[in-house]
Amino acid sequence: MFSPGVGGGSLVKEGEFDVIKREIERFVGERGWERYHTPKEIALSLAAEVGELLREFQWMEGEEEEEIKRGGVRRERIVDEMADVLFYLVDLSRVMNVDLMEAFLKKMEKNREKYPPERFQGNYERP
Ligand SMILES: [Mg+2]
Repeated sequence: MFSPGVGGGSLVKEGEFDVIKREIERFVGERGWERYHTPKEIALSLAAEVGELLREFQWMEGEEEEEIKRGGVRRERIVDEMADVLFYLVDLSRVMNVDLMEAFLKKMEKNREKYPPERFQGNYERP
């Protein structure tokens, strides 16, 4: 994603995580909550939101797992919790100055080395 940069009409590359970071910054800033958004508090909030996401899956059985792929109130609640998880993950990257996309791509490289397809074809045993 590209958007006009400041001055001179130059193009500054902006990723989707930057858009999310900006949204979070605005939301947090407008409420004077910046001082609460420390790495520790954000990490705890992230874990809490993961818990809320998992709660939606608790006691789910059989056909319900297929139903949530299609629609319904439960799917809406799950999608909301996914957004909450994303909020705190991106917020953590924001306050720690981490380029999440770069971190992700680097980690995927490590994952590829750790799980070569010829050795892990169709199985996911721990190496
Ligand atoms: Mg939530």
